Amino acid sequence: MKIRADIAELLRAEVSHLHIARQLHVSRKTVSATHHALDLPPRVRGGGAPHATIEDAYRAHAEAGDDGHVRWTGYLDGTLPIVCHGGRRTPAPRVAFRLHHGRDPEGRLTRTCDMPGCVAGAHYADRPLREANRRADKAFAAIFGLSA
Ligand SMILES: [Zn+2]
Repeated sequence: MKIRADIAELLRAEVSHLHIARQLHVSRKTVSATHHALDLPPRVRGGGAPHATIEDAYRAHAEAGDDGHVRWTGYLDGTLPIVCHGGRRTPAPRVAFRLHHGRDPEGRLTRTCDMPGCVAGAHYADRPLREANRRADKAFAAIFGLSA
């Protein structure tokens, strides 16, 4: 879509969608589409956040590939994918992990695949998972007489 500079300017200044629509005589739909096209963080005030839950916000910017990895098309803090929801910023891997495992990660999350920036929930391990993997490696080594 073609982005109107005046709408973009007011959005960046965090003017509410309703006010922008009134001020510039455009529809709120146009304002909202511009907001989305600019990939600005969702707003809480002035029309409500575009995504009902943080999981929805994650899914809106997560693009599953054929290779099992998930690319992030949303906001980045440096190289860290960030889910912006309800005025808060959460690292996307934490949201992905919770969606995949049904629980919050414990401790630090580490990526287990080799695709930089991947946000597949299955491709992250937290502390309990890393410890379980280490135990499995040791058991494997014991069974096959390999030194761990
Ligand atoms: Zn991956």
